[in-house]
Amino acid sequence: MTERYDLVVIGGGIHGVGVAQAAAAQGHTVLVLEQTALAAGTSSRSSKLIHGGLRYLESAQFSLVRECLRERALLLKLAPDLVRLRPFYLPVYRHTQRRPWKIRLGLALYDLLAGSSKVSRYSSISRHHWERLDGLITEDLEAVYCYPDAQTDDAALTRAVMQSAQELGAELRVPATLQQVECHAQGAIVHYQMAQQSYPQEAQAYHLSGFAKVKLKDYDGALEEFNRYDSVLSGNPNTLFFKGYCYEGMKKYPQAGQAYRRYLQTVTQGNYADHAYNRLRQWQAKGLI
Ligand SMILES: Cc1cc2nc3c(=O)[nH]c(=O)nc-3n(C[C@H](O)[C@H](O)[C@H](O)COP(=O)(O)OP(=O)(O)OC[C@H]3O[C@@H](n4cnc5c(N)ncnc54)[C@H](O)[C@@H]3O)c2cc1C
Repeated sequence: MTERYDLVVIGGGIHGVGVAQAAAAQGHTVLVLEQTALAAGTSSRSSKLIHGGLRYLESAQFSLVRECLRERALLLKLAPDLVRLRPFYLPVYRHTQRRPWKIRLGLALYDLLAGSSKVSRYSSISRHHWERLDGLITEDLEAVYCYPDAQTDDAALTRAVMQSAQELGAELRVPATLQQVECHAQGAIVHYQMAQQSYPQEAQAYHLSGFAKVKLKDYDGALEEFNRYDSVLSGNPNTLFFKGYCYEGMKKYPQAGQAYRRYLQTVTQGNYADHAYNRLRQWQAKGLI
């Protein structure tokens, strides 16, 4: 067994490398284990948007949208090579469920929550410009709106964040596959396999990410697991458990969301949004962007 790490991150997707970067920026010793390659999972297969969550306005998740827009603004500023603004066009047809007034209201609110004068505002595309929009069907078309959102190369972003984490001292082992985790009073032993050999790794805390493909169907089981680990959390605040899929299910399972926030707060000793900001500044300071 090698030295003890403050944090072992399992999974080199965007969540894992982001947590590794945030923790390394705070001076923690971090090891990332990835079984295939960085961004081998959903982090290279997303829609490649760094969006502010326009659709969450409909479910009145205003603070979430504000937070996403803030992160989007930071990424646009600090990683201009990887994150760029793009125009998005919203055609509204006679049969479209959401009426033009509702879409306009949503876009105006989205602009307001973005709060930045540098990012262009939404606009209504006048009828005589519709034909310039390639491939647009104009039959029964009532209105077209254009708003800005950001796009990225998700795999490159993941690799860049890992590179930054490594610059900050984090280590990466790949291919290395998690086998099991044993929790004990002082932390955990993370067992993993690399080059057909098994290794036990002592850690104070660990982070599991990207198990969505296995567990998505089992949200209730996930919550049960969270509740179980919650008791571990209260008994030993340094032994923490998180699975990426519960982050996705935050709205449905607020308790899972709370566990996630607690996890990040413990690992980074503070507020995650601030650390996300700090980690990007570190990234810039290291000349990685
Ligand atoms: C169709 C689709 C479109 C999306 N579009 C967007 C979008 O536009 N914008 C956005 O922000 N989000 C989007 N998302 C969500 C986003 O892609 C995911 O939230 C994100 O990629 C999840 O990252 P992750 O690190 O949790 O998981 P992953 O990227 O899946 O990473 C998990 C990693 O863990 C590794 N791993 C698994 N098991 C083990 C093991 N036993 N040992 C070691 N390593 C292991 C895997 O190889 C993998 O690399 C989209 C998702 C989907 C499905």
